[in-house]
Amino acid sequence: MIIDAFEFARRAEEASGSLGLDELARIDALNRGERLDWRLVGSTDERNRPFLDLEVKGAVELVCQRCLQPVVVAVDVLARFLVATDDAEADAVPLDEDAFDVVVGNREFDVVQLIEDEVILWLPLVPKHDRCPQPPASQTVAPLRSERSSPFAVLGKMKKDPKS
Ligand SMILES: [Zn+2]
Repeated sequence: MIIDAFEFARRAEEASGSLGLDELARIDALNRGERLDWRLVGSTDERNRPFLDLEVKGAVELVCQRCLQPVVVAVDVLARFLVATDDAEADAVPLDEDAFDVVVGNREFDVVQLIEDEVILWLPLVPKHDRCPQPPASQTVAPLRSERSSPFAVLGKMKKDPKS
């Protein structure tokens, strides 16, 4: 979705929709069928500066880096952006300003790109379960050597494993 970021803010426009993860190729989702709901609201502040407020909700299924099983991570992005006209203006915004981020806007501003950037920032770099449903794979794999010497010993071990 393309908007004129400045006009969108000035006219206090609103837009919302739902994005399939199949459209967000940079997100390493296991389930491309999931969708994220988003809402974008334009506004100006008392100094007439253009702002965009973005909300993204949903869930993304990632691979847990501890047990390599799917882990569902909830997405609940709430971000406010000052729309700058160029990089120079964006850089001039004080760094200690944490009430909002700064984006360089233009008349053909890609909302999907912004949503994807924000969801990537939201998602953990190393996704993990709080408590993995299964022990790490490295602990459940029987050593190759014992498998060769005695398949029955391995079978016996596998039967016992779920109870431990
Ligand atoms: Zn896990």
